[in-house]
Amino acid sequence: MGRANRHGRNLNENTGFLSGMATRVEADVLIPGTGEPTRNGCVIFDGATISYAGPIESAPPASPSDTTVNVPAVLPGLWDTHTHFTGIRNFTMEEMVYTSPWVGILRAARDAEKVLRLGFTSIRELGGYGIYVGRAVKDGSIPGPHIYGSGTALSTTGGHGDAHAFSLEYVHQEQSRLGFPGPCDGVAECLAAVRKVLRLGAPVVKVCASGGVLSDMDSPVDRQFSDEELRAMVEEAARAERIVAAHCHGKVGIMAALKAGVKTIEHGSYLDDEAADLMLEKGALLVPTRTIVTQLVARKDTGIPEFMIEKARKMVDQHRTALRIAVRKNVPIAMGTDIGGSSEAAAVYWGQNAKELVLLVEDGGMTPLQAIESATANGPRTLGPQAPRSGQLRAGFVADILALREDPLKRIAALTESDNIVRVWKDGQLAVERPLAGPP
Ligand SMILES: [Zn+2]
Repeated sequence: MGRANRHGRNLNENTGFLSGMATRVEADVLIPGTGEPTRNGCVIFDGATISYAGPIESAPPASPSDTTVNVPAVLPGLWDTHTHFTGIRNFTMEEMVYTSPWVGILRAARDAEKVLRLGFTSIRELGGYGIYVGRAVKDGSIPGPHIYGSGTALSTTGGHGDAHAFSLEYVHQEQSRLGFPGPCDGVAECLAAVRKVLRLGAPVVKVCASGGVLSDMDSPVDRQFSDEELRAMVEEAARAERIVAAHCHGKVGIMAALKAGVKTIEHGSYLDDEAADLMLEKGALLVPTRTIVTQLVARKDTGIPEFMIEKARKMVDQHRTALRIAVRKNVPIAMGTDIGGSSEAAAVYWGQNAKELVLLVEDGGMTPLQAIESATANGPRTLGPQAPRSGQLRAGFVADILALREDPLKRIAALTESDNIVRVWKDGQLAVERPLAGPP
């Protein structure tokens, strides 16, 4: 197994980075994020950016001051492109309202650290405290991945992002308390809602273009928002160089969202050949979130209402069919889970994230290499013009890197086991370190 050569560290007091000492990760297999893997590969970085990635024989020679790590596999840090930092311990829309934001955000901070320790260096967050947790990560106050938060999920009154068990006034008040716009109706309110999330610095705008599973009074097959409203939100986001992500299950919602210019379809449960063709034509990505659809059905004793389980049960096979159509048609897919719970008692919870890769292989029919591409190189594509140079092991890209004790191309589930995640670097800084070899 591998070994680490750790040399004395000369930390530059201004940058905190090792000065004049590069890190070299030498691996039996280098998985670049997109394209074919390289046998006997090497990644080199000195600071936040990768300076070399490719075959060992073509790499610049090692200097004695370099830190070299030998591992079975190296790949880009993972992306989960559909998540929620909520701090809720029971997975319902109402629990979001019941849980004090002060408590919720503390739990969310812990979840951010947890997911980084499991190899996720980037998280797109589509409704929750991500925008705030992300600020604290960025300024170095707490450990965590890069977080790209949408603020809230823009919804019609009575739509998927509304909390139907509470009075509408109360929902508006609670959203406002968090700095978020409440449910919005008509072009003028939709424009104002987009401006409010842009005001928070959201790099992506999330809208609910169909009903949902977790919301009580709506149906996942019905569309939400009119063409005019969707188009107004997409255009307003575009003026700030943002794309729109749309929650949609039903086909009418998927088609309407794509025609309005939405660039990522979340869930896509009723996607068919025609919808897949339109996705390809429009250059949109699918974020299937197989995790939540399967977990709502499979998990027992999670305290979620029967109506939710029933909605999910009706959808689980259809969702698998849709995913397989997208894979067969080569619709670009980005890995996303819809994870949002802060307790293992919740139907989906932080820490399960990498299981989605297994589902993409087992249920979606992807190869392990395709599943890894969906969780690496395709991650930043879900941010449109706001995408960082991330998700690939290539010179000039961010040094967000994952070293593994086992080759995930041979067994994709290796990514779900924390013991295998032996090193994680974020922005070139060592964030996670575990023993390189297992117990004898
Ligand atoms: Zn979601």
